[in-house]
Amino acid sequence: MAGTGVAICNSRDEMIFEMKKPLDLIKGDRVSRRSVEGHALIEALKAATALELNRIVFYCDYYLLYQLVSGWWRPKQQKIINFMDQLNLLRKSFTYCEHSLIACKDVKFAFKLAREAISSQKSKVVSSQEELENCVICLDDKSIDQFFLVESCTHRYCYSCVKQHVEVKLHSGVLPKCPHEGCGNELRIESCEKFLTPKFIEMMRQRLKEDSIPVTDKVYCPNPRCSTLMSTKKALRHPEIISTKLLNWKLRAMRSYIVPEI
Ligand SMILES: [Zn+2]
Ligand SMILES: [Zn+2]
Ligand SMILES: [Zn+2]
Repeated sequence: MAGTGVAICNSRDEMIFEMKKPLDLIKGDRVSRRSVEGHALIEALKAATALELNRIVFYCDYYLLYQLVSGWWRPKQQKIINFMDQLNLLRKSFTYCEHSLIACKDVKFAFKLAREAISSQKSKVVSSQEELENCVICLDDKSIDQFFLVESCTHRYCYSCVKQHVEVKLHSGVLPKCPHEGCGNELRIESCEKFLTPKFIEMMRQRLKEDSIPVTDKVYCPNPRCSTLMSTKKALRHPEIISTKLLNWKLRAMRSYIVPEI
């Protein structure tokens, strides 16, 4: 079972068109989210053309579709190529046709976003001398010097989004990587120092160190006031470990922390 809903609003958030439509499916056909989302988009654009609208912004909460319509990857499947042809043809019937990504949880704010998009469009015209770039996480237009570049993959995000991303990851004990979905390129600590507080820089340094030691090779100093993390090799020279004679025990156990013998 699948269905699509289309709502078109004017710049004052008033709904000017609404359509609900069940999808005609051939029995046994598998419905993917991508095809339903794509279908809904085509229906929406057709409706907007029928209403003779000239300037539209369509909102998408489905990242895969957003990437596709942004032209970030070239489809190879014939079905998707056909979809893109149909979409591009429809897009040409508008003098202005932009798209924007919103988070799933923000769908209920879509009306508000629509209004903001229109007003930011206006301010963009006013300050057109200043070069602006759109951050794909917060969708804000910001001046290009407010952008952070992940050197290894050239993905770009505004500083406040990268900062939030890095802090959340560090808080959950994970080494932060490039926020782009499926990218996973490393962030250099030297670049992150530009926006992190000393506390987070220290957390990141510690995280990098922990991740560089294989799990089976990790030793924590048993002295709770020290609890330094080191490799077993380094532990051989760590004074408290030598004095507590715990290293042999650790070397046999290998996996867990050192527990002082009673
Ligand atoms: Zn941002
Ligand atoms: Zn990346
Ligand atoms: Zn120690």
